[in-house]
Amino acid sequence: MSKKERSRQSAIWGLKCPACRQGNLFKPVNKFLDLFEMHDNCPNCEQKYEIEIGFYWGAMYVAYALSSAVAMGSTLLFMFVFDLSMMTSFVLMFLLVMLLSPSIFRLARSIWLHAFVNKKE
Ligand SMILES: [Zn+2]
Repeated sequence: MSKKERSRQSAIWGLKCPACRQGNLFKPVNKFLDLFEMHDNCPNCEQKYEIEIGFYWGAMYVAYALSSAVAMGSTLLFMFVFDLSMMTSFVLMFLLVMLLSPSIFRLARSIWLHAFVNKKE
């Protein structure tokens, strides 16, 4: 392999294949709905991305945990660091979570797949 070895963390955040850490998990984005389109197999090493039917249902729990963390963290930040009212903080938190939901969706799938597929040697 000519490219520098990627760490698992870097592959998760970079949305890369867990087996080779080179191929992208998601298709290129041209329009909004493309944000949710995954490749069926790794474009680099052919690793199957949907290991079994309904595999990504479990990623919802990861997405739930991530968005809860963002919601709690941002609400506390808005209320206690920026000293905003509770109502304003909730509205801003809601907008932030909506805005980040495509990224949360992608990151959750990446974490979920990396939890089940190890690097090929
Ligand atoms: Zn791969």
